[in-house]
Amino acid sequence: MIDAIHTDYFPKPLIYRNKLMPELDSLHTDMNQAPGWYSILPKQPSATRLKGSQTADWVVVGAGVTGLAAARRLAELNPEARVVLIENYRIGYGASARNSGFIIDTPHLSEKLDIETNRSLSRMVVAGLDELEAHVKKYAIDCEWSQRGHLTAVVEPKRIKNLQATVDNLKASNEDYEWLDKAALAQIVGTDHYHAAVMTPRTVLVNPSAMCRGLGEHMPENVEIFEETRVKRIASGTTVTIECTEGSIKTRNVLLTTNAFIRELDYLKRDVFPLIECASLSRSLTDEELSAMGGNGDWGITGYATMRRTLSNRMLVRHGTFYSGDFRLSQGMRNKLQAAHIKGIRKRFPMLDKLEFEHTWAGVFCMTRNWASFFGRLEPGLFASLGYCGVGLPRGSISGKLLAEYAMGADSKLIRDVQSVSGPNRLPPEPFLGAGVRAQLAWHRWSHRTEW
Ligand SMILES: Cc1cc2nc3c(=O)[nH]c(=O)nc-3n(C[C@H](O)[C@H](O)[C@H](O)COP(=O)(O)OP(=O)(O)OC[C@H]3O[C@@H](n4cnc5c(N)ncnc54)[C@H](O)[C@@H]3O)c2cc1C
Repeated sequence: MIDAIHTDYFPKPLIYRNKLMPELDSLHTDMNQAPGWYSILPKQPSATRLKGSQTADWVVVGAGVTGLAAARRLAELNPEARVVLIENYRIGYGASARNSGFIIDTPHLSEKLDIETNRSLSRMVVAGLDELEAHVKKYAIDCEWSQRGHLTAVVEPKRIKNLQATVDNLKASNEDYEWLDKAALAQIVGTDHYHAAVMTPRTVLVNPSAMCRGLGEHMPENVEIFEETRVKRIASGTTVTIECTEGSIKTRNVLLTTNAFIRELDYLKRDVFPLIECASLSRSLTDEELSAMGGNGDWGITGYATMRRTLSNRMLVRHGTFYSGDFRLSQGMRNKLQAAHIKGIRKRFPMLDKLEFEHTWAGVFCMTRNWASFFGRLEPGLFASLGYCGVGLPRGSISGKLLAEYAMGADSKLIRDVQSVSGPNRLPPEPFLGAGVRAQLAWHRWSHRTEW
Protein backbone atom coordinates (compact mmCIF):
# COMPACT_ATOMS: atom_id res chain seq x y z
CA MET A 1 0.00 0.00 0.00
CA ILE A 2 2.70 2.44 0.97
CA ASP A 3 4.48 1.74 -2.31
CA ALA A 4 1.33 2.42 -4.27
CA ILE A 5 0.92 5.72 -2.48
CA HIS A 6 4.50 6.61 -3.20
CA THR A 7 3.98 5.97 -6.88
CA ASP A 8 0.74 7.87 -7.13
CA TYR A 9 1.14 10.67 -4.68
CA PHE A 10 4.82 11.18 -4.02
CA PRO A 11 6.30 11.25 -7.49
CA LYS A 12 10.01 10.92 -6.84
CA PRO A 13 11.31 13.66 -9.13
CA LEU A 14 9.54 16.23 -7.01
CA ILE A 15 11.02 14.92 -3.82
CA TYR A 16 14.53 15.45 -5.08
CA ARG A 17 13.51 18.87 -6.33
CA ASN A 18 12.83 20.07 -2.89
CA LYS A 19 14.93 23.21 -3.03
CA LEU A 20 12.76 25.69 -1.30
CA MET A 21 12.81 29.02 -3.05
CA PRO A 22 15.19 28.61 -5.96
CA GLU A 23 16.41 31.70 -7.78
CA LEU A 24 13.83 33.01 -10.19
CA ASP A 25 16.49 32.56 -12.81
CA SER A 26 14.36 32.47 -15.92
CA LEU A 27 14.47 35.85 -17.58
CA HIS A 28 12.60 34.60 -20.59
CA THR A 29 9.24 32.97 -20.09
CA ASP A 30 9.78 29.24 -20.50
CA MET A 31 6.88 27.97 -22.62
CA ASN A 32 7.64 24.43 -21.52
CA GLN A 33 6.64 25.46 -18.00
CA ALA A 34 3.77 27.73 -19.01
CA PRO A 35 0.33 27.05 -17.56
CA GLY A 36 -2.20 25.65 -20.05
CA TRP A 37 -4.32 28.78 -19.69
CA TYR A 38 -1.38 30.82 -21.03
CA SER A 39 -0.40 28.36 -23.76
CA ILE A 40 -3.84 28.42 -25.38
CA LEU A 41 -3.81 32.23 -25.75
CA PRO A 42 -2.47 34.03 -28.82
CA LYS A 43 1.23 34.87 -28.70
CA GLN A 44 1.93 38.33 -27.27
CA PRO A 45 4.44 40.99 -28.33
CA SER A 46 7.90 40.90 -26.71
CA ALA A 47 8.24 42.23 -23.21
CA THR A 48 9.68 45.60 -22.23
CA ARG A 49 12.44 45.11 -19.65
CA LEU A 50 13.66 47.62 -17.11
CA LYS A 51 17.10 48.90 -18.11
CA GLY A 52 19.46 51.60 -16.82
CA SER A 53 18.93 53.77 -13.73
CA GLN A 54 15.41 54.99 -13.29
CA THR A 55 13.20 56.71 -10.75
CA ALA A 56 9.51 56.33 -9.99
CA ASP A 57 7.04 57.63 -7.45
CA TRP A 58 5.73 54.15 -6.70
CA VAL A 59 7.06 50.70 -7.55
CA VAL A 60 4.99 47.51 -7.36
CA VAL A 61 6.95 44.26 -7.54
CA GLY A 62 5.02 41.23 -8.87
CA ALA A 63 2.26 41.41 -11.48
CA GLY A 64 -0.17 38.74 -10.30
CA VAL A 65 -3.69 39.77 -9.39
CA THR A 66 -2.45 41.54 -6.25
CA GLY A 67 0.19 43.61 -8.04
CA LEU A 68 -2.12 44.43 -10.95
CA ALA A 69 -4.77 45.71 -8.53
CA ALA A 70 -2.23 47.64 -6.46
CA ALA A 71 -0.64 49.37 -9.47
CA ARG A 72 -4.05 50.30 -10.89
CA ARG A 73 -5.21 51.82 -7.62
CA LEU A 74 -1.99 53.77 -7.06
CA ALA A 75 -2.28 55.23 -10.55
CA GLU A 76 -5.94 56.14 -10.06
CA LEU A 77 -5.21 57.89 -6.78
CA ASN A 78 -2.03 59.60 -8.06
CA PRO A 79 -2.76 60.51 -11.68
CA GLU A 80 0.40 62.63 -11.93
CA ALA A 81 2.69 59.98 -10.47
CA ARG A 82 4.88 57.49 -12.32
CA VAL A 83 3.84 54.01 -11.15
CA VAL A 84 6.13 51.17 -12.20
CA LEU A 85 5.02 47.53 -12.13
CA ILE A 86 7.81 44.94 -12.35
CA GLU A 87 7.30 41.27 -13.21
CA ASN A 88 9.92 38.53 -13.43
CA TYR A 89 8.09 36.62 -16.19
CA ARG A 90 5.10 37.80 -18.22
CA ILE A 91 1.73 38.95 -16.98
CA GLY A 92 -0.54 35.90 -17.07
CA TYR A 93 2.30 33.44 -16.48
CA GLY A 94 2.67 33.33 -12.67
CA ALA A 95 0.44 31.75 -10.01
CA SER A 96 -2.42 34.11 -10.81
CA ALA A 97 -2.58 32.32 -14.17
CA ARG A 98 -1.66 28.84 -12.93
CA ASN A 99 -4.74 28.31 -10.84
CA SER A 100 -8.09 26.59 -11.36
CA GLY A 101 -9.80 29.87 -12.23
CA PHE A 102 -12.46 30.01 -9.47
CA ILE A 103 -13.25 33.54 -8.34
CA ILE A 104 -15.15 32.47 -5.29
CA ASP A 105 -17.86 34.48 -3.61
CA THR A 106 -17.82 32.90 -0.13
CA PRO A 107 -15.05 32.16 2.37
CA HIS A 108 -13.14 28.99 1.58
CA LEU A 109 -12.36 26.39 4.27
CA SER A 110 -14.76 28.37 6.42
CA GLU A 111 -15.05 25.57 8.99
CA LYS A 112 -11.43 26.20 10.02
CA LEU A 113 -12.20 29.81 10.96
CA ASP A 114 -14.47 31.60 13.39
CA ILE A 115 -17.62 33.38 12.30
CA GLU A 116 -16.21 36.93 12.49
CA THR A 117 -13.22 35.94 10.36
CA ASN A 118 -15.57 34.29 7.88
CA ARG A 119 -17.67 37.45 7.72
CA SER A 120 -14.60 39.59 7.04
CA LEU A 121 -13.44 37.15 4.38
CA SER A 122 -16.86 37.13 2.84
CA ARG A 123 -16.90 40.92 2.48
CA MET A 124 -13.40 40.77 1.00
CA VAL A 125 -14.02 38.06 -1.59
CA VAL A 126 -17.25 39.68 -2.72
CA ALA A 127 -15.46 43.04 -3.07
CA GLY A 128 -12.62 41.32 -4.97
CA LEU A 129 -15.04 39.60 -7.31
CA ASP A 130 -16.90 42.89 -7.89
CA GLU A 131 -13.61 44.64 -8.72
CA LEU A 132 -12.61 42.00 -11.22
CA GLU A 133 -16.06 41.92 -12.76
CA ALA A 134 -16.10 45.70 -13.18
CA HIS A 135 -12.76 45.68 -15.03
CA VAL A 136 -13.53 42.63 -17.15
CA LYS A 137 -16.82 44.21 -18.25
CA LYS A 138 -15.43 47.73 -18.71
CA TYR A 139 -12.58 46.58 -20.94
CA ALA A 140 -14.48 43.65 -22.50
CA ILE A 141 -11.68 41.28 -21.48
CA ASP A 142 -12.14 37.97 -23.27
CA CYS A 143 -11.41 35.43 -20.51
CA GLU A 144 -14.29 32.92 -20.59
CA TRP A 145 -15.93 34.77 -17.69
CA SER A 146 -18.82 32.58 -16.54
CA GLN A 147 -20.89 32.96 -13.39
CA ARG A 148 -21.56 29.25 -12.90
CA GLY A 149 -21.19 28.99 -9.15
CA HIS A 150 -18.90 26.83 -7.04
CA LEU A 151 -19.66 23.20 -6.30
CA THR A 152 -18.01 21.97 -3.11
CA ALA A 153 -18.43 18.22 -3.40
CA VAL A 154 -17.70 15.06 -1.45
CA VAL A 155 -17.16 11.64 -2.94
CA GLU A 156 -17.39 9.48 0.16
CA PRO A 157 -20.65 9.44 2.18
CA LYS A 158 -18.63 9.59 5.41
CA ARG A 159 -17.51 13.12 4.47
CA ILE A 160 -21.03 14.49 4.42
CA LYS A 161 -20.34 15.96 7.87
CA ASN A 162 -17.67 18.21 6.31
CA LEU A 163 -20.22 19.48 3.83
CA GLN A 164 -22.67 20.02 6.66
CA ALA A 165 -20.04 22.13 8.47
CA THR A 166 -19.66 24.22 5.31
CA VAL A 167 -23.43 24.71 5.22
CA ASP A 168 -23.51 25.71 8.90
CA ASN A 169 -20.94 28.40 8.20
CA LEU A 170 -22.71 29.60 5.09
CA LYS A 171 -25.95 29.88 7.08
CA ALA A 172 -24.22 31.75 9.91
CA SER A 173 -22.80 34.21 7.38
CA ASN A 174 -26.17 34.56 5.59
CA GLU A 175 -24.68 33.28 2.34
CA ASP A 176 -26.81 31.86 -0.47
CA TYR A 177 -26.30 28.18 -1.15
CA GLU A 178 -28.05 25.13 -2.57
CA TRP A 179 -27.67 21.54 -1.37
CA LEU A 180 -27.35 19.07 -4.25
CA ASP A 181 -27.77 15.34 -3.74
CA LYS A 182 -26.10 12.77 -5.97
CA ALA A 183 -28.82 12.86 -8.66
CA ALA A 184 -29.10 16.66 -8.77
CA LEU A 185 -25.33 17.00 -9.01
CA ALA A 186 -25.13 14.38 -11.76
CA GLN A 187 -27.56 16.48 -13.80
CA ILE A 188 -25.03 19.32 -13.75
CA VAL A 189 -21.72 17.53 -14.10
CA GLY A 190 -22.66 14.42 -16.04
CA THR A 191 -21.37 11.84 -13.55
CA ASP A 192 -22.79 10.18 -10.45
CA HIS A 193 -19.30 9.78 -8.99
CA TYR A 194 -19.90 12.45 -6.34
CA HIS A 195 -22.09 11.82 -3.35
CA ALA A 196 -23.35 15.37 -2.74
CA ALA A 197 -22.36 19.02 -3.09
CA VAL A 198 -23.07 22.50 -1.89
CA MET A 199 -23.44 25.10 -4.62
CA THR A 200 -22.65 28.75 -3.91
CA PRO A 201 -24.09 30.61 -6.86
CA ARG A 202 -22.06 33.77 -7.44
CA THR A 203 -18.65 32.19 -8.02
CA VAL A 204 -17.24 33.01 -11.44
CA LEU A 205 -15.09 30.65 -13.51
CA VAL A 206 -12.47 32.13 -15.85
CA ASN A 207 -9.35 31.54 -17.86
CA PRO A 208 -7.17 33.32 -15.27
CA SER A 209 -4.27 33.93 -17.65
CA ALA A 210 -6.51 35.72 -20.15
CA MET A 211 -8.01 37.75 -17.32
CA CYS A 212 -4.60 38.84 -15.98
CA ARG A 213 -3.28 39.64 -19.44
CA GLY A 214 -6.38 41.72 -20.16
CA LEU A 215 -6.01 43.58 -16.86
CA GLY A 216 -2.37 44.31 -17.70
CA GLU A 217 -3.31 45.60 -21.15
CA HIS A 218 -5.83 48.04 -19.70
CA MET A 219 -3.82 49.81 -17.02
CA PRO A 220 -4.13 53.57 -16.43
CA GLU A 221 -1.69 55.53 -18.61
CA ASN A 222 0.63 56.41 -15.76
CA VAL A 223 1.44 52.75 -15.04
CA GLU A 224 4.57 51.53 -16.78
CA ILE A 225 5.03 47.78 -16.91
CA PHE A 226 8.40 46.03 -17.09
CA GLU A 227 8.27 42.27 -17.61
CA GLU A 228 11.10 39.73 -17.76
CA THR A 229 12.68 41.86 -15.06
CA ARG A 230 13.65 40.30 -11.78
CA VAL A 231 14.08 42.31 -8.61
CA LYS A 232 17.25 40.93 -7.08
CA ARG A 233 17.72 43.14 -4.06
CA ILE A 234 15.97 45.93 -2.21
CA ALA A 235 18.01 48.45 -0.23
CA SER A 236 15.63 50.37 2.00
CA GLY A 237 16.15 53.87 3.44
CA THR A 238 14.58 57.30 2.85
CA THR A 239 14.95 56.39 -0.81
CA VAL A 240 14.55 52.73 -1.67
CA THR A 241 16.86 51.32 -4.33
CA ILE A 242 15.61 48.31 -6.22
CA GLU A 243 18.23 46.34 -8.11
CA CYS A 244 16.91 44.45 -11.07
CA THR A 245 18.48 42.11 -13.60
CA GLU A 246 19.38 44.77 -16.16
CA GLY A 247 18.95 48.04 -14.29
CA SER A 248 17.82 49.67 -11.08
CA ILE A 249 15.09 51.99 -9.93
CA LYS A 250 14.89 54.44 -7.03
CA THR A 251 11.62 55.27 -5.35
CA ARG A 252 10.17 56.26 -2.00
CA ASN A 253 7.48 53.63 -1.88
CA VAL A 254 7.49 49.95 -2.79
CA LEU A 255 4.64 47.47 -2.69
CA LEU A 256 5.77 43.85 -2.67
CA THR A 257 3.13 41.58 -4.18
CA THR A 258 5.45 38.70 -4.90
CA ASN A 259 3.55 35.76 -3.37
CA ALA A 260 5.85 33.34 -1.49
CA PHE A 261 8.84 34.56 -3.54
CA ILE A 262 9.13 37.35 -0.97
CA ARG A 263 11.33 34.94 0.98
CA GLU A 264 13.92 35.26 -1.74
CA LEU A 265 14.09 38.98 -1.01
CA ASP A 266 14.74 38.11 2.67
CA TYR A 267 11.38 39.16 4.06
CA LEU A 268 8.83 37.11 6.04
CA LYS A 269 10.97 33.99 6.02
CA ARG A 270 9.43 32.76 9.27
CA ASP A 271 5.91 33.86 8.36
CA VAL A 272 5.04 32.35 4.99
CA PHE A 273 6.00 29.18 3.17
CA PRO A 274 5.44 27.89 -0.36
CA LEU A 275 3.52 24.90 -1.58
CA ILE A 276 3.11 23.97 -5.19
CA GLU A 277 -0.16 22.73 -6.63
CA CYS A 278 -0.36 20.92 -9.96
CA ALA A 279 -2.96 21.04 -12.71
CA SER A 280 -3.68 19.79 -16.24
CA LEU A 281 -5.82 21.13 -19.06
CA SER A 282 -7.18 18.82 -21.75
CA ARG A 283 -7.76 19.28 -25.44
CA SER A 284 -11.30 20.35 -26.37
CA LEU A 285 -13.88 17.61 -25.92
CA THR A 286 -15.22 16.12 -29.16
CA ASP A 287 -18.94 16.22 -30.00
CA GLU A 288 -19.21 12.50 -29.16
CA GLU A 289 -17.55 13.04 -25.78
CA LEU A 290 -19.82 15.98 -25.05
CA SER A 291 -22.97 14.04 -25.81
CA ALA A 292 -21.76 10.98 -23.88
CA MET A 293 -21.04 13.20 -20.90
CA GLY A 294 -24.20 15.34 -20.78
CA GLY A 295 -24.55 17.83 -17.95
CA ASN A 296 -24.21 21.63 -18.09
CA GLY A 297 -22.07 23.58 -20.52
CA ASP A 298 -19.50 24.49 -17.89
CA TRP A 299 -19.07 23.90 -14.16
CA GLY A 300 -16.42 23.75 -11.44
CA ILE A 301 -16.08 21.35 -8.50
CA THR A 302 -13.67 21.57 -5.61
CA GLY A 303 -13.05 18.96 -2.97
CA TYR A 304 -9.99 16.80 -2.50
CA ALA A 305 -9.23 17.59 -6.15
CA THR A 306 -10.62 20.24 -8.47
CA MET A 307 -12.43 19.43 -11.73
CA ARG A 308 -13.74 21.89 -14.26
CA ARG A 309 -15.42 21.75 -17.61
CA THR A 310 -14.58 25.08 -19.22
CA LEU A 311 -16.69 27.23 -21.50
CA SER A 312 -14.44 26.16 -24.37
CA ASN A 313 -15.16 22.50 -23.48
CA ARG A 314 -11.83 21.53 -22.01
CA MET A 315 -11.41 19.58 -18.78
CA LEU A 316 -9.23 20.94 -16.00
CA VAL A 317 -7.90 18.81 -13.15
CA ARG A 318 -6.09 20.23 -10.12
CA HIS A 319 -4.48 17.57 -7.98
CA GLY A 320 -1.09 17.14 -6.32
CA THR A 321 0.38 19.36 -3.60
CA PHE A 322 4.06 19.41 -2.65
CA TYR A 323 6.30 21.29 -0.27
CA SER A 324 8.43 23.22 -2.72
CA GLY A 325 8.63 26.72 -4.10
CA ASP A 326 9.88 25.59 -7.49
CA PHE A 327 7.03 25.38 -9.96
CA ARG A 328 9.16 23.96 -12.75
CA LEU A 329 8.40 20.32 -13.57
CA SER A 330 10.89 17.86 -15.00
CA GLN A 331 9.54 15.89 -17.97
CA GLY A 332 9.41 12.75 -15.82
CA MET A 333 7.38 14.53 -13.17
CA ARG A 334 5.04 16.02 -15.76
CA ASN A 335 4.41 12.55 -17.20
CA LYS A 336 3.63 11.15 -13.77
CA LEU A 337 1.27 13.96 -12.93
CA GLN A 338 -0.46 13.70 -16.29
CA ALA A 339 -0.94 9.95 -15.79
CA ALA A 340 -2.39 10.61 -12.32
CA HIS A 341 -4.72 13.28 -13.71
CA ILE A 342 -5.92 11.00 -16.51
CA LYS A 343 -6.56 8.26 -13.97
CA GLY A 344 -8.62 10.67 -11.83
CA ILE A 345 -10.71 11.88 -14.74
CA ARG A 346 -11.43 8.38 -16.06
CA LYS A 347 -12.56 7.27 -12.63
CA ARG A 348 -15.08 10.10 -12.56
CA PHE A 349 -15.98 10.20 -16.24
CA PRO A 350 -15.55 6.72 -17.73
CA MET A 351 -17.00 8.02 -21.02
CA LEU A 352 -13.87 10.22 -21.44
CA ASP A 353 -11.54 7.24 -21.79
CA LYS A 354 -9.79 8.74 -24.81
CA LEU A 355 -9.29 12.21 -23.37
CA GLU A 356 -5.72 13.51 -23.31
CA PHE A 357 -4.23 16.42 -21.45
CA GLU A 358 -2.31 18.91 -23.54
CA HIS A 359 -0.84 20.91 -20.67
CA THR A 360 0.38 20.05 -17.18
CA TRP A 361 1.96 22.59 -14.87
CA ALA A 362 2.52 23.63 -11.26
CA GLY A 363 2.07 26.94 -9.44
CA VAL A 364 3.09 28.36 -6.10
CA PHE A 365 0.71 28.93 -3.19
CA CYS A 366 1.78 31.25 -0.39
CA MET A 367 0.81 29.53 2.86
CA THR A 368 0.79 30.55 6.49
CA ARG A 369 0.49 28.47 9.62
CA ASN A 370 -2.87 29.84 10.73
CA TRP A 371 -4.52 30.70 7.35
CA ALA A 372 -3.90 34.41 8.00
CA SER A 373 -2.41 36.51 5.21
CA PHE A 374 0.25 39.21 5.56
CA PHE A 375 -0.97 42.74 4.84
CA GLY A 376 0.83 45.88 5.90
CA ARG A 377 4.12 47.68 6.29
CA LEU A 378 7.40 45.80 6.47
CA GLU A 379 9.65 48.83 6.82
CA PRO A 380 9.24 52.56 6.16
CA GLY A 381 8.31 52.86 2.49
CA LEU A 382 7.95 49.09 2.03
CA PHE A 383 4.56 47.37 2.06
CA ALA A 384 3.39 43.85 1.22
CA SER A 385 0.25 41.79 0.73
CA LEU A 386 0.41 38.02 0.25
CA GLY A 387 -0.33 34.66 1.84
CA TYR A 388 -3.87 33.93 0.68
CA CYS A 389 -3.43 30.18 1.25
CA GLY A 390 -4.77 29.23 -2.16
CA VAL A 391 -7.69 31.62 -2.57
CA GLY A 392 -5.94 34.49 -4.21
CA LEU A 393 -8.04 35.62 -7.15
CA PRO A 394 -10.70 37.57 -5.26
CA ARG A 395 -8.63 38.01 -2.11
CA GLY A 396 -5.51 39.19 -3.95
CA SER A 397 -7.54 41.55 -6.13
CA ILE A 398 -9.11 43.35 -3.21
CA SER A 399 -6.00 43.17 -1.00
CA GLY A 400 -3.83 44.73 -3.74
CA LYS A 401 -6.25 47.61 -4.15
CA LEU A 402 -6.47 48.12 -0.39
CA LEU A 403 -2.70 47.91 0.05
CA ALA A 404 -2.33 50.86 -2.33
CA GLU A 405 -4.87 52.82 -0.28
CA TYR A 406 -3.27 51.79 3.02
CA ALA A 407 0.20 52.80 1.80
CA MET A 408 -1.27 56.25 1.11
CA GLY A 409 -2.56 56.47 4.67
CA ALA A 410 -6.22 55.59 4.08
CA ASP A 411 -8.47 53.73 6.47
CA SER A 412 -11.78 52.03 5.67
CA LYS A 413 -14.03 49.19 6.81
CA LEU A 414 -12.54 46.90 4.16
CA ILE A 415 -8.97 47.80 5.16
CA ARG A 416 -9.91 46.81 8.69
CA ASP A 417 -11.38 43.56 7.37
CA VAL A 418 -8.12 42.76 5.60
CA GLN A 419 -6.14 43.68 8.68
CA SER A 420 -8.34 41.46 10.83
CA VAL A 421 -7.55 38.38 8.71
CA SER A 422 -3.84 39.11 8.50
CA GLY A 423 -1.09 38.23 10.98
CA PRO A 424 0.62 34.93 10.25
CA ASN A 425 1.79 32.86 13.21
CA ARG A 426 5.54 32.37 13.42
CA LEU A 427 6.77 29.25 11.64
CA PRO A 428 9.13 26.75 13.20
CA PRO A 429 12.63 26.67 11.71
CA GLU A 430 13.76 23.98 9.27
CA PRO A 431 13.91 21.01 9.39
CA PHE A 432 10.83 21.06 11.66
CA LEU A 433 8.75 23.15 9.26
CA GLY A 434 9.44 20.84 6.33
CA ALA A 435 8.84 17.73 8.38
CA GLY A 436 5.54 19.09 9.71
CA VAL A 437 4.25 20.25 6.32
CA ARG A 438 5.21 16.98 4.62
CA ALA A 439 3.56 14.97 7.38
CA GLN A 440 0.32 16.95 7.01
CA LEU A 441 0.32 16.55 3.24
CA ALA A 442 0.99 12.82 3.60
CA TRP A 443 -1.89 12.48 6.05
CA HIS A 444 -4.20 14.38 3.71
CA ARG A 445 -3.28 12.10 0.79
CA TRP A 446 -3.59 8.99 2.89
CA SER A 447 -7.00 9.91 4.26
CA HIS A 448 -8.29 10.54 0.71
CA ARG A 449 -6.50 7.58 -0.84
CA THR A 450 -9.67 5.93 -2.14
CA GLU A 451 -10.74 9.07 -3.99
CA TRP A 452 -8.13 8.93 -6.72
C1 LIG B 1 -2.88 24.95 -9.19
C2 LIG B 1 -3.45 26.13 -8.44
C3 LIG B 1 -4.83 26.28 -8.33
C4 LIG B 1 -5.37 27.40 -7.67
N1 LIG B 1 -6.71 27.62 -7.75
C5 LIG B 1 -7.22 28.80 -7.31
C6 LIG B 1 -8.57 29.15 -7.60
O1 LIG B 1 -9.29 28.43 -8.29
N2 LIG B 1 -9.03 30.33 -7.12
C7 LIG B 1 -8.24 31.18 -6.40
O2 LIG B 1 -8.73 32.23 -5.97
N3 LIG B 1 -6.94 30.91 -6.17
C8 LIG B 1 -6.41 29.75 -6.63
N4 LIG B 1 -5.08 29.49 -6.47
C9 LIG B 1 -4.25 30.45 -5.72
C10 LIG B 1 -4.00 31.72 -6.51
O3 LIG B 1 -3.51 31.42 -7.78
C11 LIG B 1 -2.99 32.58 -5.74
O4 LIG B 1 -3.44 32.74 -4.41
C12 LIG B 1 -2.91 33.95 -6.37
O5 LIG B 1 -2.57 33.86 -7.72
C13 LIG B 1 -1.88 34.79 -5.65
O6 LIG B 1 -1.77 35.99 -6.36
P1 LIG B 1 -0.56 36.96 -6.11
O7 LIG B 1 -0.76 38.15 -6.96
O8 LIG B 1 -0.41 37.17 -4.64
O9 LIG B 1 0.71 36.11 -6.53
P2 LIG B 1 1.31 35.66 -8.02
O10 LIG B 1 0.19 35.50 -8.93
O11 LIG B 1 2.23 34.60 -7.73
O12 LIG B 1 2.04 36.99 -8.41
C14 LIG B 1 3.30 37.29 -7.88
C15 LIG B 1 4.18 37.67 -9.04
O13 LIG B 1 5.39 38.19 -8.52
C16 LIG B 1 6.42 37.86 -9.41
N5 LIG B 1 7.66 37.96 -8.67
C17 LIG B 1 8.00 37.29 -7.54
N6 LIG B 1 9.23 37.65 -7.13
C18 LIG B 1 9.66 38.58 -8.01
C19 LIG B 1 10.87 39.31 -8.13
N7 LIG B 1 11.86 39.16 -7.25
N8 LIG B 1 10.99 40.17 -9.16
C20 LIG B 1 9.99 40.33 -10.06
N9 LIG B 1 8.82 39.66 -10.00
C21 LIG B 1 8.67 38.79 -8.98
C22 LIG B 1 6.10 36.43 -9.83
O14 LIG B 1 6.72 36.09 -11.04
C23 LIG B 1 4.57 36.49 -9.92
O15 LIG B 1 4.10 36.69 -11.22
C24 LIG B 1 -4.51 28.37 -7.08
C25 LIG B 1 -3.12 28.21 -7.19
C26 LIG B 1 -2.59 27.12 -7.86
C27 LIG B 1 -1.11 27.00 -7.96
